[in-house]
Amino acid sequence: MGFKYNRVILKISGEVLGGEKEGLDSEVFKYLSQEIISVYKLGLKIGIVIGGGNIIRGNITDWFNRIDADLCGMVGTIINGIILSSLLKERKVDVYLRSNLEVKGVVPRFNLLEDKILYDRGAVMIFVGGTGSPLFTTDTAAAIKACEMNADLLIKGTKVEGVFSDDPFKTKNVRFYHRIKFQEVIDKNLKVMDASAFNICKEANIPICVYNLMKYPLKKIIAGERIGTLIT
Ligand code: UDP
Repeated sequence: MGFKYNRVILKISGEVLGGEKEGLDSEVFKYLSQEIISVYKLGLKIGIVIGGGNIIRGNITDWFNRIDADLCGMVGTIINGIILSSLLKERKVDVYLRSNLEVKGVVPRFNLLEDKILYDRGAVMIFVGGTGSPLFTTDTAAAIKACEMNADLLIKGTKVEGVFSDDPFKTKNVRFYHRIKFQEVIDKNLKVMDASAFNICKEANIPICVYNLMKYPLKKIIAGERIGTLIT
């Protein structure tokens, strides 16, 4: 199999990690670790940015302070990352967990110079803690990591097939986009990622692929097969 991309960042949405419910689905975590191993074994460069929506989302938590809820959300991504890295370590993968939010004794802080060397070497990097600041999202963290690691593709792994003209669960006759330009996404006001994440990729000219993470092999996305939506 030839590969179109060699340096990728995979954003794993928190909603995937809970399976059918919220919380942690062991089968999903095991499946994802195998998917990551399939790419790692090929010698491709891969960094993972993990969401935390399966644990807590700051923007929809209304019974305590938003900033505190966001801190909890970022800590949630650390929990997800510890589990994923544990499963990968068990399988003898060269894996490093790094956080933008320091939790001393639990996870080391991200260090661009050192961690890019590890990424370039082909180690699996798991980036957690989001951006380290409240009021942001892990999509934005993933876009920043894609720039920092000089990635040639940002992959957003979700529960949906890709980008539609409207919500396919609410509207009939929606159009599915296999390929679309950044500007068209803006003009048509389509939902891909939050605006800051989207703009970072647009400015840096890093293509984004949105696809159903549980349905298609990650390898095929990296090979450039016509799966999901590719934004260029
Ligand atoms: N979060 C944050 N700053 C960040 C990234 C995440 O405060 O830079 C918090 C925020 O509360 C968010 C939660 O962590 O709702 C989980 O992240 P996100 O919603 O991006 O995860 P996903 O949508 O992938 O499940």
